[in-house]
Amino acid sequence: MSNSIELTQESYVDSIIERVVVRNPGETEFHQAVREVLESIKPVVELYPEFEENGILERLTEPERQIIFRVPWVDDQGNVHVNRGYRIEFNSALGPYKGGLRFHPTVYPGIMKFLAFEQTFKNALTGRPIGGAKGGSDFDPKGKSDSEVMRFCQSFMTELYRHIGAQTDIPAGDIGVGNREIGYLFGQYKRITNRFEAGTLTGKGVDWGGSLARTEATGYGLVYFVDEMLKDIGETFEGKKVIVSGSGNVAIYTVQKVIELGGKVIALSDSDGMVYDPEGIDLNSVIEIKEKRRGRIVEYLKTHPSAEYNDNSKNIWKIECDIAFPCATQNEIDMEEAKTLVNNGVLVVAEGANMPCTPEAIECFQKNNVLFAPAKAANAGGVATSALEMTQNSMWESWSFEEVDKKLREVMKNIYSSIKTTAEEYKKDGDLVFGANVTAFLKVARAMMDQGIV
Ligand code: GLU
Repeated sequence: MSNSIELTQESYVDSIIERVVVRNPGETEFHQAVREVLESIKPVVELYPEFEENGILERLTEPERQIIFRVPWVDDQGNVHVNRGYRIEFNSALGPYKGGLRFHPTVYPGIMKFLAFEQTFKNALTGRPIGGAKGGSDFDPKGKSDSEVMRFCQSFMTELYRHIGAQTDIPAGDIGVGNREIGYLFGQYKRITNRFEAGTLTGKGVDWGGSLARTEATGYGLVYFVDEMLKDIGETFEGKKVIVSGSGNVAIYTVQKVIELGGKVIALSDSDGMVYDPEGIDLNSVIEIKEKRRGRIVEYLKTHPSAEYNDNSKNIWKIECDIAFPCATQNEIDMEEAKTLVNNGVLVVAEGANMPCTPEAIECFQKNNVLFAPAKAANAGGVATSALEMTQNSMWESWSFEEVDKKLREVMKNIYSSIKTTAEEYKKDGDLVFGANVTAFLKVARAMMDQGIV
């Protein structure tokens, strides 16, 4: 009897994974993200047959709305270009759609859907009333002038504005979308609608509705999360050798907080290559190169000639370290890099980027007792602080840096303790992947049950 029940339930999850693959051909990142969540929630789905009866998984894996649009723009030489814009409004069971915009040439529906799907669960973990979405474009901001980026953002918003709003869908930044882009997007939104609706976008400038500490939030939150994990094993960041991949917004503020807590960051990267500075990375130089000049990480050598550069960014994982923070992009750590990290004695791997570790890499870490923090929990500080920005906007208030930072720390602490407790409840102590997926799934699924078949 119990065997047959188990078989039926297993086949529900498996049939949904199969269905997602068939209905979304070629979208491998989306398949990967769905498989990762669904496989780990299997035992919970088995416990509650009402989820199957109400088609929860069919609905949870189908975006509520997918918007794809043309984005024409003119470059500085007068040439016309056409990019593709996206907004995937995945799930609104917990609140209005919320999630960033990514401008990167690799953007296509598979990446947009994986990010929007992940965002639904991540947002659930923050404890704030926000649903999940993601958007962006295959536009490549690299090498574009400010005025080209402005014209692109204006064209993008000329279509997007009709789909978003403080109670509907609230975009923010992601790869390729930072303060500059949010500014241009907000300006165009305001111009078209004739409304200064601060709550429509987050990541705004602090003088016009943005929240202090939003820029730092993803990186700081990531480090706060790992600090909680370390505390649990009687450790701290003090004296730890740390590697952070990437050198964008998440990486920079991860480095800053690690240094503040006494860790030593010895390597950073961008898509061209990596720098290794055994003396400890000089963050001010990195900020000067990456944030102020929008340059390449190789330029670090000009001011730090004793540092080493390698033009394969994946080689960053060959350096021996105690803590690894993949903060660049999806699937940057595969089995090979995972094995090297394990052989070099890594203690903690925490995902700053979205889905930077492949399923095989995660399995390798977990089998070898490496403490592993999944993105949807560990990098949730960014979107959680976006939700704090929305709260401030709706109250017409702005809180101090310290106040927002304190709330961020609280959110990260709560996420850690709730997912750890869930893992323990199901006798999967220490499995934060399971804990995060199950905690988030139950929250979203129960809200969907309450709201009927919609
Ligand atoms: N793009 C970020 C993320 O992956 C932030 C999204 C937001 O603030 O809405 O969570």
